[in-house]
Amino acid sequence: MSTPHSADVLAALREFVARLDERDPGAPLVGELTLGLGGAGERLALRAPVARALTEALRGYHDPRDRGTCAHCGAGRLDDDFVCRSCGIVNGLFGQTLAGFVPPASQQEVSGQRGIAGADRPDGTLGD
Ligand SMILES: [Zn+2]
Repeated sequence: MSTPHSADVLAALREFVARLDERDPGAPLVGELTLGLGGAGERLALRAPVARALTEALRGYHDPRDRGTCAHCGAGRLDDDFVCRSCGIVNGLFGQTLAGFVPPASQQEVSGQRGIAGADRPDGTLGD
């Protein structure tokens, strides 16, 4: 069954091939593109310029949801807030700066205090 989404993909591919073939109709044929989506299909001649362009486009694509790899642990992927999903560290200079203001969890448990130093003082001073 054809869906609006699959029709868009097939139309975009057809238009892409036509646009590039128009510039160089005598380019050598290197194969055939066959794509089937939702019961609809498309078979298009694959010429060298289209093959090159598709390869570049696919390899150069960057998913906007991909925030990169954690610089701290090197393996975890970052979420939309640039927090590593593996180690929980906020990535980058901002994350390192922020982490410098927060005592390690082990110190928080020992002192029993959390938050901004001095904020719990009734006179609002930092004790100096
Ligand atoms: Zn990490």
